Amino acid sequence: MTTTHAFWLAGRQATGESTFDVTNSYDGRLVGRVSEPTDAQIEEAVAAAHASAHTFAALPAYRRAAALDHVARRLGERTEEIARLITAENGKPIKWARGEVGRAVSVFRWAAEEARRFNGEGMRLDTDAGGTGRYALVRRIPKGVVLGIAPFNFPLNLVAHKVAPAIAVGAPIILKPAPATPLSALVLGEILAETDLPAGTWSVLPVPNDRMPALVEDERLPVISFTGSGPVGWSIMDSVPRKHVTLELGGNAAAVVLADWSSEADLEWAAQRIATFSNYQGGQSCISVQRVIADTSVYDRLVEKVVAKVAAQVTGDPEDDAVDVGPLVSVAAAERVQAWVDEAVQAGAKVLTGGTRDGANYAPTVLSEVPAGVTIACEEVFGPVLTLTRVDGTDAAFAAVNDSEFGLQAGVFTHDIQTAFRAQRELEVGGVIIGDAPSYRADQMPYGGAKNSGVGREGVTYAMTDFTYERVMVLTGL
Ligand code: NAD
Repeated sequence: MTTTHAFWLAGRQATGESTFDVTNSYDGRLVGRVSEPTDAQIEEAVAAAHASAHTFAALPAYRRAAALDHVARRLGERTEEIARLITAENGKPIKWARGEVGRAVSVFRWAAEEARRFNGEGMRLDTDAGGTGRYALVRRIPKGVVLGIAPFNFPLNLVAHKVAPAIAVGAPIILKPAPATPLSALVLGEILAETDLPAGTWSVLPVPNDRMPALVEDERLPVISFTGSGPVGWSIMDSVPRKHVTLELGGNAAAVVLADWSSEADLEWAAQRIATFSNYQGGQSCISVQRVIADTSVYDRLVEKVVAKVAAQVTGDPEDDAVDVGPLVSVAAAERVQAWVDEAVQAGAKVLTGGTRDGANYAPTVLSEVPAGVTIACEEVFGPVLTLTRVDGTDAAFAAVNDSEFGLQAGVFTHDIQTAFRAQRELEVGGVIIGDAPSYRADQMPYGGAKNSGVGREGVTYAMTDFTYERVMVLTGL
């Protein structure tokens, strides 16, 4: 019999009146049944979070840091169990799932350190006669309760990126995990419940999508930290223009290989990184390599290596340690990828490897000669598909990167420091990775997009800044 997973309402476990199922996309088995909160329970969580805002902001830093340290330690101790849960609910190969838990550990550890350091500043005001005897203290105060909305593709780490900074600054949080992958977030709830954080300060609520607009519009939740798809993210921002909304959205990240990246070792490295990071997690990362833009002088040698390495990726059961590429999150997602590839092929694109589907599994695929204007050339594929473009020179390469409505990260393979600085100046993205694929992310880095890839930045310290604002206090008569 399948047990029903409770959710977390103001720090305690609760169940509602309805449930939904979480299934494994590789073999279709039922992984868990999750209880959904009723409207009254959602109201209770919001009211508790709102009521706890002042006391949480005043909770001493050492207690918030201790709670964050505890979470980091317990996630570390439970790595294998949680990684297996991520693999079961998400389909992510186990080796990547272990890596995700490790990253979440670092996020909580980093947040614990930052909770101790996060501080204000003193400012003298007696630089003018009117400021004689005055002094200002500038402190960062939480804006209020954070509504964190997370996607399915990193069900633990992207949840960590919302929960850890909120706790670090003393902002209550209501976390809404993705419907396909709520189980690892609910385990995080178990660990949070072991801490002495005040009960009202956190909830993990698997609210159905059709009941999200009411939560989004609730005035007691002034901060929304959303990671997910563009259409949902922008509609949230449009619906609450006066709230503080951070949007971490999609991308079609490019890896640029320039003429100076030409030795055998250079091209081996670039091909290996491109092959790995176009497919890892079935291409379901917002910074998966989707586009390779290579200088004509290195293009043929690079393509030969990339195709060989993509074709050599081990596909199959995500629970197998040897597997590089597992299924997509659902059969429907794989069917969409197949439709986009078929559209490109009908318009003249060539399939160099892959191009086949089996249920939710889509074979790692490389396409060349993709005509401009087809869906896969413009949109985020969110699947294991790479497109290749030949260009002549750095100007053309950078123009091709910027010829996208998205701008999350770009990878630039070059040895030339001037070109690296130029890339940082000219590429319309949130992050430029020199000498590697665009898919590198360290969790303390500022992370976020330009253009349709979103607004605002995550990365522990940056989210802490985002969840707070400066409040100045002027002392008089000193
Ligand atoms: P999604 O937009 O379908 O869902 C994201 C979250 O929003 C889920 O929790 C979902 O239940 C919730 N949601 C759905 N409708 C809602 C509504 N009307 N109001 C409020 N919340 C609602 O995205 P997904 O399929 O889970 O994730 C994939 C997308 O996320 C991709 O586009 C990917 O690029 C993006 N992503 C971006 C980043 C980043 O940091 N930039 C990281 C990971 C994923």
